[in-house]
Amino acid sequence: MTNAEIASLFDHVADLLEYQGGNVFRVRAYRNAARLVKGTVEPLAAIRGASDRSFTDLDGIGKDLATKIETLLDGGRLPMLEQLEQEVPQVAFDLMRVPGLGPKKVKLLVDALRLTSLDDLGEACRAGRVRELQGFGEKTEATILANLAFAQNPEHNRLLWDEADAIVRQLVEWMRGCPAALRVEAAGSWRRGRETVGDIDILAESSQPAAVMDHLLAWESAGDLLLRGDTKTSIRGPQGVQIDLRVVEAASFGSAWQYFTGSKEHNVRLRSRARDRGLTINEYGVTRLDAPEAGSLAGRTEAEVYEAVGLPWIPPELREGRGEIEQAAAGKLPTLVTIADIRGDLHMHTTATDGEATLAEMATAAIERGLSYIAITDHGKRVTMAHGLDEKRLRRQWQTIDRLNESLAAGGKPPLVVLKGIEVDMLEKGGLDLPDDVLAEADWVVASLHYGQKQDRQRITARIVEAIEHPAVSCIGHPTGRLLNRRPAYDVDMQQVIAAAAATGTFLEINANPWRLDLDDTLAAAAARAGVKLVISTDAHSTGGLDVMRCGILQARRAGLEPNDVANTQTLAGLRKLLAKQRSA
Ligand SMILES: [Zn+2]
Ligand SMILES: [Zn+2]
Repeated sequence: MTNAEIASLFDHVADLLEYQGGNVFRVRAYRNAARLVKGTVEPLAAIRGASDRSFTDLDGIGKDLATKIETLLDGGRLPMLEQLEQEVPQVAFDLMRVPGLGPKKVKLLVDALRLTSLDDLGEACRAGRVRELQGFGEKTEATILANLAFAQNPEHNRLLWDEADAIVRQLVEWMRGCPAALRVEAAGSWRRGRETVGDIDILAESSQPAAVMDHLLAWESAGDLLLRGDTKTSIRGPQGVQIDLRVVEAASFGSAWQYFTGSKEHNVRLRSRARDRGLTINEYGVTRLDAPEAGSLAGRTEAEVYEAVGLPWIPPELREGRGEIEQAAAGKLPTLVTIADIRGDLHMHTTATDGEATLAEMATAAIERGLSYIAITDHGKRVTMAHGLDEKRLRRQWQTIDRLNESLAAGGKPPLVVLKGIEVDMLEKGGLDLPDDVLAEADWVVASLHYGQKQDRQRITARIVEAIEHPAVSCIGHPTGRLLNRRPAYDVDMQQVIAAAAATGTFLEINANPWRLDLDDTLAAAAARAGVKLVISTDAHSTGGLDVMRCGILQARRAGLEPNDVANTQTLAGLRKLLAKQRSA
């Protein structure tokens, strides 16, 4: 079991306890444990394996939770969770997936309206019965209806890329241990780096398909068998995800990998290009339309397949049928940004607000990851929930940063420079939550919109454009506010935001948090086309949080971004030049 899976189980327990009106402290203990486990980089299984360590060493994990983690790691089930799941009706589980509906509201709705399904809830909203409940009202009813549509959309019931990636890694490692498999690779939307993944596609090269398929069934996380053919097997994997394994011969490995990587739109266009050249492409290879009996012309590698239709190999992240084949044909494929191009991370939190690591710990973690600069951007004072910084505390943090930079530079060229930053809030009524004279002293200012997300399009757009035009603001954080599977973006005119950013040189963020990935690929591409520089930052709230940079990179690659489109691929001197330009705009 991965840390993320254990964390989501604990969150699930907390939800169920809360639904039942359980003890507040008990609920909180599970929530805290979930957060802690999620933020722990080291797999809990490794701690379990070390004789001199114990889960109770982790802050907030007592004996009871430690035992439960052990049970889970041993593949056991939690009796208390099974009991809770029996006591809570299915409809409550479904309702809790609707954005904005926490366990308490769900309980109220289920009991008062005698709901048995999500459709019941929709009907009750349309009949105006929800607004009559205490604490709901007409506006809430409309919001529930909109969010219900969001939750029922199958697009919002997929794994996050990051979750799928954890499964893919374990699975591929297991399958590579099969003596009959000469090569194992993952394909599908995981390989294209889509922000969410529907099912997982695995490809194996072997002349003994039965042995390879048996090996899959022997995987410790293998669930129900869904289908078994001669060369294809489908099973349920962790979190209910469908896993499709296909076994192919070496001669078609490349064509099968290309085929099962998709996307459908890309493959349709590729096949039509092949037809124009008298060829046909499928998962087995490339053949001539007028001489199929001559056999496959290409198929060992993907490059061979593309070459057969006169194209260079196309990176999987671009294979969406959005013009990449024409670009490839014209020799104009972008040189996509890679994680090695990233020199700095410009959005992260510390224990001064809602982060879990200290300033010094974040700096050390950044050095370990080979970064040459970071910006510390704790919350401004509007975010009271996270104990946001006022002027005084912020200035004190900056003094600490000055001292840290001095000590980093003591031995000569510093391995890392820490920028004095802040994540200011765009206030509901307009303006920012810290005074201009303080912001003018910052090296780096991220402006974000955390409150008043329900305001209308004009209002929200105006707040963001105002922040863009503020001389001290360097970058807009998570510009649309969406959370994958949980919450749609706020209503904002991104065309206007992009135009304003282009005019002032203000950067727009690709927040690399796997829940956010905000801007998304199409908006990031639109911003880059308009001449806006993007910043890929992690918004880390722990040292492990710095590792989600790779998710942001994938999104940037899907947007077709080159290193030059991304401000934090610059040296610190280069970045400072761009910032100076912003201020004089
Ligand atoms: Zn934020
Ligand atoms: Zn943040």
